[in-house]
Amino acid sequence: MDRYCVIGNPIGHSKSPAIHAAFARQAGQALSYETCLAPLDGFADTVHKLIDSGYRGANVTVPFKIAAAELAGTLTERARAAGAVNTLSFRDGRIAGDNTDGAGLVNDILHNAGVAIAGKRVLLLGAGGAARGVILPLLEQAPAELVIANRTLATAEALVKQFGSPLLRASEFQRLSGAFDIVVNATSASLAGDLPPIPPETFCPETLALDMMYGKQPTVFMEFAARHGATVRDGLGMLVEQAAEAFATWRGVRPDTAGVLLHMRSQL
Ligand code: NDP
Repeated sequence: MDRYCVIGNPIGHSKSPAIHAAFARQAGQALSYETCLAPLDGFADTVHKLIDSGYRGANVTVPFKIAAAELAGTLTERARAAGAVNTLSFRDGRIAGDNTDGAGLVNDILHNAGVAIAGKRVLLLGAGGAARGVILPLLEQAPAELVIANRTLATAEALVKQFGSPLLRASEFQRLSGAFDIVVNATSASLAGDLPPIPPETFCPETLALDMMYGKQPTVFMEFAARHGATVRDGLGMLVEQAAEAFATWRGVRPDTAGVLLHMRSQL
């Protein structure tokens, strides 16, 4: 049976095994998918042990996505642009790296939320690993503009310079002006129950506000956005969609995500 896993530290909380088990059932494919706890200083060793044990691939999560990009022998364009890898494929002893987070976000917005990105004002909050991974896939949808707002402005400015697109600009939270059509919270502020200091006028009734974080309760960001008229969404759809993209890469079959997303939500 083909074996896969998700590597992280910590990893016990991961929902990836349940998502991939559901995809495998749906596709009628026999595979195993487990969690793999790697020591903080032992990511590369862990990957080589998995390869030696016959694994076909692995997802990678916090804090190893950058280490995975450095370890991979080949990178897809979106993984190179992100500087981070969340999907590894092992073939003939070689390691190929991809980043499916951005495609997961875009597919969730387009197909699950039913919101077009082309021609829209899009705001990305945060400039860390998660934000970096979604910039290229968002730009590929041809928004009217993509503004990156970050607590540390210099980090957002460096990303604007790196991607070099005329559609991109950096901003401080407090200097944002006007309403956006799509606002994606890719900061880790929600983890601590904090809200980035964005003006309430960022939101209007036509805004889709998506927090990459997910859980039982709406986040402070989702509550704030909803209070100011936006339609809100958490990051569970993105999680399921990035997993579907990885499954398609490994197994050659694109899963139908709607039922799996409903099931995962009922398990929160
Ligand atoms: P990083 O640590 O790489 O980046 C954190 C970002 O958040 C930085 O831009 C940082 O700003 C900003 N930040 C942190 N605290 C605050 C605060 N109190 N106020 C404002 N900004 C703040 O984290 P990741 O990018 O890896 O992860 C971000 C979030 O995305 C996490 O909640 C993670 O769980 C989620 N995620 C969800 C996925 C999904 O599939 N749903 C996939 C990947 C991530 P600064 O530069 O100033 O430090």
